[in-house]
Amino acid sequence: MSTDEIVIAGNPNAGKTSVYNRLTGASQQVSNYPGVTVEYKSGVMRHAGKRLTVVDLPGAYSLTAYTQEELVARNYIVDRKPALIVDVVDASNLERNLYLTTQILEMRAPTVIALNMMDAAERRGYQVDAARLSQLLGVPVIPTVASRGTGVNELRDACIAVIEGRLDAMPAPVRFGHAVDEEIAALTGQVGAYPSLVEMFAPSWLATKLIEKDPVVYGQARAIAPEDAASLKALADEAAHRIETHFDADAATIVAEHRYGIAAGVVKACVSFTAQARRDMTDQIDKIVCNRLLGPVILVGVVAMLFFWVFKLSDEWAWLPWPGGWQSPTGVVAWSFDVLSSFLSPLEAYAPMLHSLLDAGIIGGVGGVLNFVPLIFFMFLFVSALEDSGYIARVAFILDRPLRVFGLQGKSILAFIVAGGIGAGGCAVPGIMATRTMREDKDRLLTMLVTPFMNCGAKMPVYAMLIAAFFPGDRILVMMTLWALSWVTALCAAWVLRRTIVRGTQTPFVMELPPYHLPVLRGVLRHTWERTWMYIKKAGTIILAINIVLWALMYFPRPPDEVDDSDALAYSMAGRAGKTLEPVSAAAGFDWKTNIALIGGFAAKEVVVGALGTAYALEDQTDENYHSLSERLAAHPDWNPVRGFALMIFVMLYAPCFVTIAVIRRESGSWKWAAFATLYSTALAFVLAVITYQVGMVLLPYF
Ligand code: GDP
Ligand code: MG
Repeated sequence: MSTDEIVIAGNPNAGKTSVYNRLTGASQQVSNYPGVTVEYKSGVMRHAGKRLTVVDLPGAYSLTAYTQEELVARNYIVDRKPALIVDVVDASNLERNLYLTTQILEMRAPTVIALNMMDAAERRGYQVDAARLSQLLGVPVIPTVASRGTGVNELRDACIAVIEGRLDAMPAPVRFGHAVDEEIAALTGQVGAYPSLVEMFAPSWLATKLIEKDPVVYGQARAIAPEDAASLKALADEAAHRIETHFDADAATIVAEHRYGIAAGVVKACVSFTAQARRDMTDQIDKIVCNRLLGPVILVGVVAMLFFWVFKLSDEWAWLPWPGGWQSPTGVVAWSFDVLSSFLSPLEAYAPMLHSLLDAGIIGGVGGVLNFVPLIFFMFLFVSALEDSGYIARVAFILDRPLRVFGLQGKSILAFIVAGGIGAGGCAVPGIMATRTMREDKDRLLTMLVTPFMNCGAKMPVYAMLIAAFFPGDRILVMMTLWALSWVTALCAAWVLRRTIVRGTQTPFVMELPPYHLPVLRGVLRHTWERTWMYIKKAGTIILAINIVLWALMYFPRPPDEVDDSDALAYSMAGRAGKTLEPVSAAAGFDWKTNIALIGGFAAKEVVVGALGTAYALEDQTDENYHSLSERLAAHPDWNPVRGFALMIFVMLYAPCFVTIAVIRRESGSWKWAAFATLYSTALAFVLAVITYQVGMVLLPYF
């Protein structure tokens, strides 16, 4: 019966046979695996009244199909589905051994790790933390010295406990980085549709192997279900192709690199060196980049450089040849909307309402958002390049430890980064989706609740507009301040929530450290363009629709003739709502026109700029001196830098947009958390904006 079979796997010379002999008392029967010349030994282990078959598989460095030993070991596990795999790992050579271990864990069978050669590891000056290793990989880890028999009893107990269901040995899922994981997850779902294949293979393993283009696995799947296998293969090839165009490298190579990355990350987390052994380039760089003191300094430097180049390239340097002189990319966009607007101006006399809709509502609103496409483009460009270089993984590594203090965990950082945590310009929606990799519900919920504080792409136009108006000389400084504030708020909120509403224990995780890469321009550009295009599409659809609705709310009802035209906005529906809130919002320095914009921003934060633009344009139609909303606000008597800054704080922190709220509801499984996220962040935003405004107004005269 296969249910009580234990197989021993591991690298050659890791001590498999020694473990085998210790477990079985060296009883053995040598067999040949059918069809090949590779031998394996099997014997019997008796323990606590149980009788288990133990099989000593041939040693292998990998479970690809390159050598017969690898194939035999792998096929044995696939075909026989043993109750337990004992992975013998040489602790003195941990990183190389873990490369096989990740592949064993990928097979998603119960696994116990015998952390062997502990004596040799110690002699070489390594100290391996078995408990941490076990937490990270999700399987029991038993330190052993098989040649002397140390730890073998514990190993035997663990094996029995797993087989009797008293000890969990199901591995944590192995991750290959966001892009590859998405493809594997999608294909795994497809595999689920074919019961005969699911019976044979762990679905995620089959998906991974097909994406790696493993011919043997494909052959085995075809033998079971020819048509199903062929259609899966076609999907897998498409997935592999997408991965390959993204990274400009073979899919199997990318997957393999991530396995090395996991091995390296686990070693970093679990091994302390008394003697420094490794000397390759990645290590040398990591010594500086992941240094506890230098790492954070470098991170701040990288973010500052990012903002510097983004502003320079998007609108400070006029480097594009254009009719009428050199222009910056932002200049080109603004120029286009100016031209469009002047085309429309004759309309004002004949059809004032249509003109108002087109000029104030659509061009003012959508144009206001599209003005920031160059900024967003360069932001995405640099962030994509950093992602592909491997630096983002280091950021997660550097920040893992400090973030634990706040009740978050390393994977939270990945959610923050996707949501715009490095620089700015991500999106909370995929950020919240990224929390799916987190195993602990409380950690996950907490991360979801604070991820929307990051500076997503939609907040960028608001910041950029207000910075241009009030802090034109300190753009990088103000952006850095906002960047830091978003993190500080997220961390403090997490700290408080962790101790009040979202209590629970924390789980550790593997920090994967892939090797550094020079980013490939084509992949980076494609990624950048995809993200930028999504932003543009959103401006042309959702944002456009909301702007038209808001425009209507700001335009209707029209005042009766006796009311002065300049009071029309106040007379409108939105104007009345804004005025109703004004007594409260005044504490943060927001007038009723700002309130209108902020109400619109509940739907999507890009709307804030457009709606402010529309509100100020509708209020003050006589004034044609100002090209941009920034100029208009800078010159406006009611506005000052403090008020601008308070508004930025509020926009950064208040309620997540509709789509984000819907995703929080879906991912947390309850409206309660979605409603909570909306209310607590709005309350927090208001309190901080009020403090900023009140304190700022006191200090303002001294500057
Ligand atoms: P296999 O190739 O994985 O089957 O490894 P073996 O069990 O044949 O062991 C390879 C060599 O390592 C043998 O000389 C063993 O005596 C030795 N060995 C096994 N376990 C340990 C251990 O924990 N510590 C030390 N120092 N040597 C060991
Ligand atoms: Mg052996």
